[in-house]
Amino acid sequence: MNEIHTIELPRLVIVGRGVIKKIGEVSCNFNFKKAFIVTGRKTLKIAGLQVSSILHENGIDVKTIVVNEANLENVNLVKTKSFEDRPDVIIGVGGGKIIDVAKLGATYVKLPFISVPTTASHDGISSCVASIKGLGRPYSIKANVPIAVLGDSTIISESPYRFTASGCGDVISKVVAVSDWKMAHEIKGEYYGEYASSLAVMSSTLVRSNASHIRDRLESGYRVLLEALVSCGVAMSIAGSSRPCSGSEHLFSHALDLIAPNSALHGEQCSVGAILMAKLHDLDWELLARDLKIIGVPTTAKELSVSREDVVKALLMARTIRPERFTILNKVNLTKESAEKLAIDCGVI
Ligand SMILES: [Zn+2]
Repeated sequence: MNEIHTIELPRLVIVGRGVIKKIGEVSCNFNFKKAFIVTGRKTLKIAGLQVSSILHENGIDVKTIVVNEANLENVNLVKTKSFEDRPDVIIGVGGGKIIDVAKLGATYVKLPFISVPTTASHDGISSCVASIKGLGRPYSIKANVPIAVLGDSTIISESPYRFTASGCGDVISKVVAVSDWKMAHEIKGEYYGEYASSLAVMSSTLVRSNASHIRDRLESGYRVLLEALVSCGVAMSIAGSSRPCSGSEHLFSHALDLIAPNSALHGEQCSVGAILMAKLHDLDWELLARDLKIIGVPTTAKELSVSREDVVKALLMARTIRPERFTILNKVNLTKESAEKLAIDCGVI
């Protein structure tokens, strides 16, 4: 373990109904005079225009950049425009992809970043990592943590439920990521942080125990999910890496991204990965699958819209995605036959 341990955290997290209206007050308190909003075509109408007009009303100069994909081209667009116009802050208003573009763009130009998620589909809303296409690797890279997160539960409750369920899957899967981390510590002597791992496991447990509230679209359920996603981001900040939130189940999802691109959402793939890896870890995978089903997260290949063969291929490819990340897949050494048996035993194929 390094002697110096630096933890960067958001300064402000506001979660609840209608909190988007606080964007003006928050920006003024930070003394921002000029802002860039990074948003998508749809999210511009859902929340981007509202954020823009609230900032205007508060005397803040605003420019809006509309992007669609989380790729390097869009990150560079944010970077170039920021160098030209010199805003004081970059505000990401949108789903996971938009947030990631805004976050990495802000990191590159060393500007503060405010996260205003319109969906709760994964833990990137508050984390210190971003997932961007075109960087030569299918997993997240380090980025600056948002200075503020405004999680408006009204906006998120109006987003398609599938995104919410996917966010739940991303959080619930942390129980496997932490098991991988603990194992890497025991076998490889890797740094392991009890606090960060406890926070990730607690988030997973809380989402599971609120499964019916989330399924019934209750405000209390959305709040638990938003707080859990923020806590997962904090767990990563404390650990200084994505370790407490990304293990073999995420490697399985990253492998599926390469084998069957755009078939399912990140959290949906992680959920199926979590069931499979939980069995390898000897965790209660059946209970895990039951809780995921209550929320309505996919638990089978069919529900992910991928083939049986793709699942087996992803199981075999997963450990090669990020060779330095030691997980249960390094211990078990799956073959084509054992991978297929595992997926059949878990009811995934
Ligand atoms: Zn994730």
